[in-house]
Amino acid sequence: MQLARFPRRRYTLSQTPIERMEHLSGHLGGAQLYVKRDDLLGLTSGGNKTRKLEFLVAEALKQRADTLITVGAVQSNHCRLTAAAAVREGLKCRLVLEQRVPGSYRADASGNNFLFDLLGVEKITVVNAGDDLNAAMEAERQALAAEGRTGYIIPGGGSNAIGSLGYAACAEEILQQGFDMGLEFDRVVVASGSGGTHAGLLVGFNANSAGLPITGINVRRPAAEQEANIHALTAQIADYAGVAAVPREAVVCRDEWVGPGYSLPTDEMVEAVRMFASLEGILLDPVYTGKAAAGLIGLIRAGEIGRDERVLFVHTGGSPALYAYQPILSGAAAAQ
Ligand SMILES: *Cc1c(COP(=O)(O)O)cnc(C)c1O
Repeated sequence: MQLARFPRRRYTLSQTPIERMEHLSGHLGGAQLYVKRDDLLGLTSGGNKTRKLEFLVAEALKQRADTLITVGAVQSNHCRLTAAAAVREGLKCRLVLEQRVPGSYRADASGNNFLFDLLGVEKITVVNAGDDLNAAMEAERQALAAEGRTGYIIPGGGSNAIGSLGYAACAEEILQQGFDMGLEFDRVVVASGSGGTHAGLLVGFNANSAGLPITGINVRRPAAEQEANIHALTAQIADYAGVAAVPREAVVCRDEWVGPGYSLPTDEMVEAVRMFASLEGILLDPVYTGKAAAGLIGLIRAGEIGRDERVLFVHTGGSPALYAYQPILSGAAAAQ
């Protein structure tokens, strides 16, 4: 891939580490587990949206935007990082927050919500699940235009062809690191939400003929629906990047760890968050990586991931949301 063709800002100084998770591997009796520490990416508290924003914000600047407009759930990591990128670039930021769980927005909530305020978000508009999110963002863009300002709309999760280039690039980073470490991975496991991470990785591995399968662990949608979405997104990314299309059968999503719904806790998520923290000193998050790690652990216990497989878990970030879930995650609660 010639990704240098696309405008890009830099928010992380170098590659994120790949670390062996020896204690967790031992505790589970295999597989050989590694973690790609994308929780250590740049901007405020890291996480996968930083890679997407490098390409999206470069595009916004090219279009001479002065304000970033985006949408997310009430504890959105993507909204936090978009606000952080705006600060870094001297832009303003406006957010549309979707109450995917009815009544879930609280102006005084902790976690990412607190950080929206700290990062100087200019305006927050709260809407309900099912409302037209694109229309809400377009209304903001027009309100800015009426004042002579220029808004740039970033889709939910930054998951369009432009943003997903960040994860096509990450696929190449992973292959290079594996080569440098003398380590051939058998499988990648990653959370699959708005899909740019999963789809970008698929495009990047496929363009390099890596033969490295990805298991996406859903956090919201049923598997068939998510697989169709991811496949459609890979087609857009591959077209935009000018590389080969990803075959449908390479898109694999599992939905057994979604639980009652997006952002709603499960026992398996709590177990995974506590396991990663106590065995590896790594903070997951309750909405994405906690459920993705629960899927990883579940697939190992079920024997679907072999004891000798070398598995790379992509840690997509999100730890600030832990503080909004403290009563559910703390040891006192887990003991009950
Ligand atoms: C957004 C997000 C994801 C999901 O990534 P997508 O590209 O939207 O599928 C996973 N983990 C964290 C912490 C996130 O914030």
